[in-house]
Amino acid sequence: TRFEVTFSLVKTGEGTGVLACFQDITHVEQAGEIRREFVANVSHELKTPLTALLGFIETLRGPAKDDEGARERFLNIMAAEANRMNRLVGDLLSLSRVEEEARMRPRDPEDIGDILSTVIRNLQDVATTKGHELIFEKPERPVTLPADRDQLIQVFTNLIENGVKYGGEQGTVAVTIEEVEKDPTLRKPALRIAVKDTGPGIEDVHIPRLMERFYRIDSHRSREMGGTGLGLAIVKHIVARHRGRIKIESTLGQGSTFTVILPRN
Ligand code: ADP
Repeated sequence: TRFEVTFSLVKTGEGTGVLACFQDITHVEQAGEIRREFVANVSHELKTPLTALLGFIETLRGPAKDDEGARERFLNIMAAEANRMNRLVGDLLSLSRVEEEARMRPRDPEDIGDILSTVIRNLQDVATTKGHELIFEKPERPVTLPADRDQLIQVFTNLIENGVKYGGEQGTVAVTIEEVEKDPTLRKPALRIAVKDTGPGIEDVHIPRLMERFYRIDSHRSREMGGTGLGLAIVKHIVARHRGRIKIESTLGQGSTFTVILPRN
């Protein structure tokens, strides 16, 4: 704990004294530290693809000027690097938008079955290409909750995409909805939406830090997969805005389950 102490001289009818004022500034210092670390991370993440781009530009201007084959190859790599920067900036904007809206609680009722069907439809092709099957049974009647539709689409897109990205060579990602009368932590009627993959699983040591910005278990693999390291941080903020919570369970060799628990009122 850090304190800031200020002293002042106080004169009263009984004489002169010193007034010491202790102010706990731990959280102020921590916030500063987190901000500095975030800026350093963002700079690093942007600098890596930029350096690569500049390198390729130089090569194309010089040694590879007349090499048709190399030009094609380099342009493809440059496009991939530029796309990476684009995704990162997109995720940074999403994150700051969600943070800005943190206090505004969503009110409009949305149908979670409909939201999940939309996400599954959008990701179907990507999943099939990567040898994964997406499993989801839409409930027959609407299951509603107060929500920001676009943001929940983003939450489940990130979670299902991760199930495919980190789910091994092939496998399944199953999404289920459970209605509960009273969630033990939220103490309210809630929806539990589970995204379960059949991947290699996550070691226990990583689980508490998984939702931190830029935390990755294997950064090389994450980058290769097009990850920005911000996906789960965005998920965390959106779920917090909905006053919900997230549970991560994983068994090595069997897979992981990310459960989003959202209050219904
Ligand atoms: P990224 O952009 O790297 O995918 P995320 O914030 O979405 O960033 O995820 C953070 C890290 O958590 C990933 O880099 C990956 O190591 C790990 N991770 C996320 N989802 C899963 C999963 N379903 N199975 C195994 N590891 C996962």
